[in-house]
Amino acid sequence: HRRQKVLVVANRLPTKPKRDADGNWTFERCSGGLVSCLAGIRAKFDMVWLGWPGADFNDVEKDIVANEAMKQGCYPVFLRQNLIDEYYNGFANNVLWPLFHYIMPPFDKGVNECSTGQWEAYRKANEIFTEAILSVYEDDDYVWIHDYHLMLVPKFLREAKPDCNIGWFLHTPFPSAEIYRTLPWRQEIIESLLHANLLGFHVYDYLRHFLSSCVQLTSLEISAHSVDATSIGGCIVTCATVPIGISPDEFLTGLQKPEVKQQIEQLHEQYAGRKVILGIDRLDYMKGIPHKLMSFGRFLENHPDWADKCVLVQLAVPSRRDVPEYQRLQRQVHELVGQISGKHSSIATGVPVIYMDSSMSPDDLSALYNVADVALITSLRDGMNLVSYEYIACQHGKTVPGVLILSEFAGAAQSLGAGSIRVNPWHLQDTAHAIYEALMMGSEEREALHDYAFKYVSEHTAQKWAETFLQCLQEACSDLMEVT
Ligand code: UDP
Repeated sequence: HRRQKVLVVANRLPTKPKRDADGNWTFERCSGGLVSCLAGIRAKFDMVWLGWPGADFNDVEKDIVANEAMKQGCYPVFLRQNLIDEYYNGFANNVLWPLFHYIMPPFDKGVNECSTGQWEAYRKANEIFTEAILSVYEDDDYVWIHDYHLMLVPKFLREAKPDCNIGWFLHTPFPSAEIYRTLPWRQEIIESLLHANLLGFHVYDYLRHFLSSCVQLTSLEISAHSVDATSIGGCIVTCATVPIGISPDEFLTGLQKPEVKQQIEQLHEQYAGRKVILGIDRLDYMKGIPHKLMSFGRFLENHPDWADKCVLVQLAVPSRRDVPEYQRLQRQVHELVGQISGKHSSIATGVPVIYMDSSMSPDDLSALYNVADVALITSLRDGMNLVSYEYIACQHGKTVPGVLILSEFAGAAQSLGAGSIRVNPWHLQDTAHAIYEALMMGSEEREALHDYAFKYVSEHTAQKWAETFLQCLQEACSDLMEVT
């Protein structure tokens, strides 16, 4: 009896292709992210990953790459560089990503001709992904499609394999229907999604926005948690809220390593007498890094006596470096860091902001999370925000746990809201006050907030998320069998 497979389909394979000095390709398997989320489901299912292998290979290399990748349970979906530019950098990351985070195209521009070409590329790439799925899929397998890059796959796949078991999970927000309806390709995308058996979202608001879009754009019958899309060749589609989590044990074990303990001690020495306020973000405009810096500046102006008693440690992990908006953001952030340092530094105590345009190893990151007295998250929009979860995990076991300041615009605010100080990051004064409140908070209140947040983080793990999604998918597919 063959074990059922789960085909995990995401834009990128969890591998890093590398060419050695002799010109041979090797594949290093990436850890973290989706990989650790899905580790647990192997007990029940076989698993194959499908995705772009991360580089443009010539025809000779392709066979070698495919062989190497297969050894790691990966099936590469080859895309030419120009298709990646148009589909991934273009449509997915320049059109969908901003819009799903409530950033509209500039008011004096509609969607230009360039985006139309990118849309064609998006369609093309989604077709290529579908063909790859079809060459791996066997009856009764489950196809789990990830994210906004692959929203046309459900329809292509359903047309080719009417009985296919299809689930899709969105890792970003689904925007308000009033935002979504501005997208020129709104109809084709939403109708395609309605060919899946299960659609999963981080929080109920995203699901609600999706259903409102269905009401606006289709004449289908919609109930609280499902859409009957049979009249357009789709299914009775189940919509579910399945919030992602982290693996807190990985962090807690990490904190026990001697080298991490040593690093923690070093950081304590280095910042002795100062409270550490921590920011960890990808350098992305939706993380609200400028808002965070301005609020911190405001806080120092309100409370000049704190300038030598605290330090904001901000890590801005480089992201999409070749995109002009991101370069502009980096310049703006550098300027703000300069302004705050210029205003509040002193010879005796140094600078109040330590800012790094870089990434960190998981060990260094855990140490920093552990040492920080406050974590400051000011996302303007964020699907979930796992940094807030990781901070909570790494504070566990401290006699006086740190305080999380969390933007109400992060998905995580719906789960950790009652375990944090919630802020509107657009309200600089409010955020500045939250920093003060966090620094001044007594130990009893800190413990109460931490206990609440840690309970949530340790119960709603990454593994649980994957299991729940697959459980929902199995149920959604078996409901369909009863109907037909
Ligand atoms: N992270 C990382 N390297 C770093 C800093 C952070 O890999 O130098 C990780 C961090 O541990 C977290 C992820 O990046 O798991 C960020 O996830 P989040 O949901 O907060 O935001 P995203 O970047 O996905 O928008």
